[in-house]
Amino acid sequence: MSDRYAKQFILPEIGPDGQTRIGAGRVLCVGAGGLGCAVLPYLAGAGVGQITVIDNDRVDRTNLQRQVLFGESSLDRPKAVAAADRLRDLNPDISVDPIDARLNLDNVEVLLKSHDVIVDGSDNYATKYLVADACVKFNRPLVYGTVTGMEAMVTVFYAGQGPCLRCLFPKAPTGWVPNCAEAGVLGSLVGMTGSLQASEVIKLLVGKSTGMQGLLGRLWVMDARDGQSRVMAVRRRADCGTCGQPPADIVLQSAPRPVLREIDVTEARALAGWPFLDVRERDEFAAGHIPGAHNLPLSELQSGRISPPAGSRCVVYCESGVRCHTAAEILKSFDYQDIRGLRGGLPAWQAAADSHSTQS
Ligand SMILES: [Zn+2]
Repeated sequence: MSDRYAKQFILPEIGPDGQTRIGAGRVLCVGAGGLGCAVLPYLAGAGVGQITVIDNDRVDRTNLQRQVLFGESSLDRPKAVAAADRLRDLNPDISVDPIDARLNLDNVEVLLKSHDVIVDGSDNYATKYLVADACVKFNRPLVYGTVTGMEAMVTVFYAGQGPCLRCLFPKAPTGWVPNCAEAGVLGSLVGMTGSLQASEVIKLLVGKSTGMQGLLGRLWVMDARDGQSRVMAVRRRADCGTCGQPPADIVLQSAPRPVLREIDVTEARALAGWPFLDVRERDEFAAGHIPGAHNLPLSELQSGRISPPAGSRCVVYCESGVRCHTAAEILKSFDYQDIRGLRGGLPAWQAAADSHSTQS
C-alpha cells in the first residue's frame, strides 16, 4: 500500500481494509465553489479512487477569499477544470474527471448511478433540492452542507436508512435567497464545513468500523460568532413528500435556467444603445462606473425601495458578475425579457479600456 496514505491507514478506525475501500470509492462532488474546494483536496489526498467534479462556473477574483484550490493563475478558467488540475497534482494516483456543466435533469441519473457517495458543494437551493431528491430516487448517500453568513450545517441523508432533505426542510426557500457572493460568508467557516463533509465521505466509504458514527440522521450546526456547535437528531418523516413515496414516483425538478445571459466586454460594447444597469451599491458607483450607466443598488432593489426603469432589455453589471444573477431575477419580475450580464463586472470593462488605451 502506498506510503502516501501511511498516516491514514495506521488509524485503527480505517486500517488497510478501509484504505482499500477508500481507493475503490467513486465520489461525485456537485460544485467546485467554497465547499467543493474544501472537500475535494481531502478526498484526493485520502486516495479516493475516482473523483468527479461538476460545476459550470468560472473562477473570479472574489472567489479566492475562500475557494482555496484556485489562485490568480486560475482566473476565468472553468472551476471544474482548474480544480481537477490541482487535484491531479496533489495526487496523481487517482482519477479525476471535471465536468464543466450544470447538474440537470439530463445528466443527474447517469452521474449519480456511477458514483457511490454524492457530496453537495452547491450554493443554490434549486441545485441542492435537485441533488437531494435525485439521491433518494437513485438510492445514494448524500453528504449535505450549507454555509450562510456565520452559520454552517452538515448532515448525511440516505433514504431507507435515515431522513432526506425534505424530511428536514420540506420546501426550498422561495424568493431571492442571497448566496455567499451576495450575503457575505466567512471563508474559514466554509473550509471547516467542507472538511467535515470530507470526513463524512471517508466514513461512508470505509463503512462500518469500530468507534465511528456518521452524521446520518444527525445535523451538525455551527455558529462561528460564538464558536458553539451542536449536533441534533433529524428524523425521517413518514409523510415526507419525497422519501415517503416509491422511488419511481419521485419527480425531479429541474434547476431553473438562469434568466441572465452572460456576455463579455466586446459583446457589451456592441450593445451601446442598451441601458446599462449598475447594481452595485451607491458608494461603489460613486467610486467609478461605466459611463452612462444607471445605478440600481441591489440592496435597494431587493427591499423594494427602488424599481428599475421601465424597459424590456438591459445589460447589468456589478463587481464580479455575481450580484447580477439576483438582480436579473428581480428585473424579470418587472417584465424585462432580455437581460445580459457583463462577465467579470466593472473590472473586466476597465481592464479592456486600459489595454485599449495602451495599444492606441
Ligand atoms: Zn424525506
